[in-house]
Amino acid sequence: MFTSVLIIDDSVTVRERIIRTLESFNLFSRYYEAEDGLEGFKKLLSSPVDIILCDLEMPRIDGFKFLSMLKARPDLQDVPVIILTGMDDRERKIKGLEQGASDYITKPFDPEELVARVKVHLKIKKLQDELKRSNELLLELSNTDHLTGLFNRRYLMKVLDKEVQRALRKGGDLSLIMLDIDHFKQVNDCFGHLQGDVVLQKLALQLQKELRSYDCASRYGGEEFVAILPDSTLKEAVFVADRVRLAIQDTKFSEPLVNLSLTVSLGVASFSPEHSPTVDGFIKLADDALYLAKANGRNRVEFYDPAGAIMPATAAGTVD
Ligand code: GH3
Ligand code: MG
Ligand code: MG
Ligand code: MG
Repeated sequence: MFTSVLIIDDSVTVRERIIRTLESFNLFSRYYEAEDGLEGFKKLLSSPVDIILCDLEMPRIDGFKFLSMLKARPDLQDVPVIILTGMDDRERKIKGLEQGASDYITKPFDPEELVARVKVHLKIKKLQDELKRSNELLLELSNTDHLTGLFNRRYLMKVLDKEVQRALRKGGDLSLIMLDIDHFKQVNDCFGHLQGDVVLQKLALQLQKELRSYDCASRYGGEEFVAILPDSTLKEAVFVADRVRLAIQDTKFSEPLVNLSLTVSLGVASFSPEHSPTVDGFIKLADDALYLAKANGRNRVEFYDPAGAIMPATAAGTVD
């Protein structure tokens, strides 16, 4: 991987001396130079670097202004900055450190000390980057269902809570689809639990395919799935639910499941502050509709109409 450094100093001699020193220790594969804070900032925007060495006293944008410009950019905040100061600049060293610099080097610098300090800050930056990546991975794992790769119930509830709060504050459409596989126990009984898992994975793919990128599809429980459809009316969500139903009904499986004809039942509800102002109440509406879909024969969609009670939505196959 390329490691790069940006050296900002209004003195060409200082820049050259720093580059020569760093080159002799083979620390970087790319060197960028700038003669003041503004030029440095522009270079940084086009070529992100791993570390910055920055003079304090410079024309136009000086080191302090440069530090405050960095601080304002969340994407650049983590780049370590070592300030280059004069020998007796006690006050300015402190001010620089307070403004976000990671360290300082006094000019004229000692080559070995410069290299040692740069190495320390590169190491810290590397560890910080690794920690950030691990945290992102952990977060992703804690929101994901390991079998299907869909979001898990925990994440669904978080998203639903936010969407319900948004709908309460700003209005707008919000719908929920709850899906349960028909007679899934028989799939396990006939083909075994492992093949049952294959069916769940395939179903998850089909569900995701029928949804928009900003819908949130999750595995809610064993063989139950829930999708949040922001900005969708009840009618639109019922339409999507039936498309999902048909896609799953038409799904072809490979051996040993080739003869399996899989169907699902779906319940749909739209958020209504009057009828279901809470997340739990909203889920219950979709769940009740799903229960009705099962009771009415399975492989069908039912929905909860806030204007009335639960309405029969489709005979298997038709939605108008
Ligand atoms: P219905 O049409 O009424 O929904 O019938 P069903 O058989 O689908 O319903 P039931 O709730 O009786 O059975 C659900 C089955 O789902 C039972 C359980 O073993 C199975 N199941 C739950 N989680 C998993 C899983 O992770 N993998 C597999 N293979 N099966 C699972
Ligand atoms: Mg200067
Ligand atoms: Mg179930
Ligand atoms: Mg079931």
